[in-house]
Amino acid sequence: MLRTAWLVKKVLKNTNSTSPRKLCILGSTGSIGESTLDVVRLHPQKYNIVSLSAHASVDKILAQCIEFTPERVVLVSQSHAERLILLLAKEGLEYIEVFSGVDALVSLAESEQVDTVMAAIVGAAGLMPTLAAVKAGKRVLLANKEALVTSGAIFIEAMRDSGAELLPIDSEHNAIFQSLPWQEQQRVGQCQLAESGISKILLTGSGGPFRTWSVDEFEQVTPAQACAHPNWDMGRKISVDSATMMNKGLEFIEAKWLFNVQADDIQVVLHPQSTIHSMVQYQDGSVIAQMGNPDMRTPIAHALAYPERIESGVAPLDFFTTASFDFQAVDYKKYPNLKLAIDACKLGQAACTALNAANEVAVAAFLDEVIKFTDIFKINETSVKKFVSEQVSNINEVISLDVRAREFAQLTLKSLTSANGSTHTRIKK
Ligand code: NDP
Repeated sequence: MLRTAWLVKKVLKNTNSTSPRKLCILGSTGSIGESTLDVVRLHPQKYNIVSLSAHASVDKILAQCIEFTPERVVLVSQSHAERLILLLAKEGLEYIEVFSGVDALVSLAESEQVDTVMAAIVGAAGLMPTLAAVKAGKRVLLANKEALVTSGAIFIEAMRDSGAELLPIDSEHNAIFQSLPWQEQQRVGQCQLAESGISKILLTGSGGPFRTWSVDEFEQVTPAQACAHPNWDMGRKISVDSATMMNKGLEFIEAKWLFNVQADDIQVVLHPQSTIHSMVQYQDGSVIAQMGNPDMRTPIAHALAYPERIESGVAPLDFFTTASFDFQAVDYKKYPNLKLAIDACKLGQAACTALNAANEVAVAAFLDEVIKFTDIFKINETSVKKFVSEQVSNINEVISLDVRAREFAQLTLKSLTSANGSTHTRIKK
């Protein structure tokens, strides 16, 4: 009964699509944020940019303000927000309200002035504003997978209570969503895939830039090499996560929550060309896949317009020039972070929250050339072991664990760098 009421509420929301959508973009200066604005640019009559946010990218957000004239902007860093106010005044745009701080992000996301929130902040920093948008019952376009990984059941429960609509932006989850029957698309977070004859989710991944490297070469990997993804142009954190395949691990956990499945219902398949973005296998042997050129504007356009379809600016797939489709099993010796994330998914919320926090610390240290590429796994594994048996049942416990896992990861990092004899100078090119 409850589920029926929830479904009716959602369908009514979907069908009310005549007036322009009032859009808030959290993380508008990042790779997903900019791709979202690219799609919006093609449909000025359909989307009204009400608010934008960034951490500290003043020049980029100033350019976005000049072009899209939002009502409100948040720069988390206060000094950068102050600079933006001065620059906006010079442009005659002093009527754009500028705020700073994390609480301001939450207000932006839950504001009555917006009906759709693109959650594209990187990392667990996106958790509270994304959760605020969910609690306020918005249409939430979820790119910030770390929010769901970190808070899992709490996030889904908030969504169920508010009637928020969650549409996946990650290309894999968007592909899975598109390959599901309509009734399952209407109950993201509470899917019953077996009722729809679905036997497995096939999560594809390219294997990143080091798929053909041998494991002993990984010690020497530099940040520039790790950020050079063969198929996708992304932010630096997710690029490193793609190289370690931690990104696939975070996506694995994300898929569990979005589609209400267990770890055994998800299989990771390597597909180096990134043309098939993921697949759904049905009990009768059918496999439904979503394909396209690897460009995030496709899932963004899909989620922005759902259930309609709009132009995204992405070139159509040309089957006569597309390379053949290859598929491989994952070699977990090469990708221990993926195995660790799958194990964390089975172990429970504390393992996932600690893993995400440790990974953010480790990736930042690798990008700063403080640790080696292979140290990322060591830090992640130690953190999961340390916190796995904790209980996490509300958002305060999530935040507390996130903070402690970061502190612990910093300590592990320090002991690693002293044991390595200052890794920093050794790997810096
Ligand atoms: P980017 O690093 O390119 O952009 C991150 C955005 O978040 C920027 O606007 C940045 O602002 C802002 N930001 C960074 N730190 C904070 C903070 N502490 N508080 C508030 N805002 C902050 O990331 P991506 O666009 O690549 O990724 C965003 C999210 O989308 C990630 O969760 C990623 O996993 C997911 N995703 C990305 C894909 C991609 O193709 N890029 C594909 C699928 C998912 P500033 O510019 O000022 O630093």
